[in-house]
Amino acid sequence: MSWLLGAGLAGAIALGAYYARLLTAGGAWAAVLVGTSVFGVGGVWASLPMIAFFATSSLLPRALGRPHRPEQRTAAQVWANGLAPTLCCWGILLYPWRESAFWLGYCASLAAAAADTWATEFGTQFAKGARHLTTGKPVPKGTSGALSNEGTIGGLLGAFLIAAACWPIVGGPTRLFITTGLGFGGMLLDSLLGATLQARFACPSCRKEGERRICCGVLATPVRGLSWVDNNAVNLLSTLCVAAVGVWVG
Ligand SMILES: [Zn+2]
Repeated sequence: MSWLLGAGLAGAIALGAYYARLLTAGGAWAAVLVGTSVFGVGGVWASLPMIAFFATSSLLPRALGRPHRPEQRTAAQVWANGLAPTLCCWGILLYPWRESAFWLGYCASLAAAAADTWATEFGTQFAKGARHLTTGKPVPKGTSGALSNEGTIGGLLGAFLIAAACWPIVGGPTRLFITTGLGFGGMLLDSLLGATLQARFACPSCRKEGERRICCGVLATPVRGLSWVDNNAVNLLSTLCVAAVGVWVG
């Protein structure tokens, strides 16, 4: 019964997000699978942090006063942040006696995803500049692997908000701080992987270096990182790591 209700609710939210141009069609289908798993296993209270993450990451740019049209999230972007929490829900089905550990992994991975999103938004909006995490050199804000004070504060706020929304399923002030800490740690791991593994490409036409594989209509040449590791792969890897640590700690 809760699975049917979950599918209905997730379908309604995904359809609304699709028509609001927050999700592509593929992104909406992925969101239905994620939402059904979460509601089916954990009901309303487990869905709360997931909805808080989705709502804040979709609405934050506008709330911070950036009037640009929000980016439509693709299936790859939904899975990059949604696979780790979904796997934790499936973990509860397979190992119900480890339920509380899997909920901590679920919350920690969501807190990490939120921290990363909030850090990017706060950094882009408020920071004057950012520094590369491993080289310390000034880089344009918003660059993968860059850190700014404003972004870091935003990330901490995002992690704390999700941890607070997780209170009913993880319970207690200690776990609130553990979840916040794991989320914040996940954001740092995301930056570290973004600074090291993530591919960067140089455009042969405009000579700019960036994260895009195709620039000026031509294929850019890889200059750093692993050519198949993009921002989604980095997000996926860091949220999976944080979920694993959360389950282990829990
Ligand atoms: Zn170019």
